[in-house]
Amino acid sequence: MGRDLGPYHVRAEFANARGFAREWGMCSDEADMIRSIVWLYADGDWSCDCNRKHFIAEAYCEPDPKVPCGDTLQLTRLTLIRPDGTEKVIYEEKHDVPRNP
Ligand SMILES: [Zn+2]
Repeated sequence: MGRDLGPYHVRAEFANARGFAREWGMCSDEADMIRSIVWLYADGDWSCDCNRKHFIAEAYCEPDPKVPCGDTLQLTRLTLIRPDGTEKVIYEEKHDVPRNP
């Protein structure tokens, strides 16, 4: 029997905020799991500032900032970290970087 390596994790990175990683406990088919993760982080319940800032604060052991809902945080990349340590980028978005005058 193989070694139990634990759950998947998802790393979220932002253009204008600190990133965070969370455990993803659902153990379905990987392709289904990726569709659920991308939807949740990019368009679903976790796509707004109040949820994202809550997760960021939690990742850094800070109190929940309880910010109003909004969409100012720019998600740039989601990476799936498999139980065996291999990684797969599952979402990537380029945001325009403001140019210096
Ligand atoms: Zn919100």
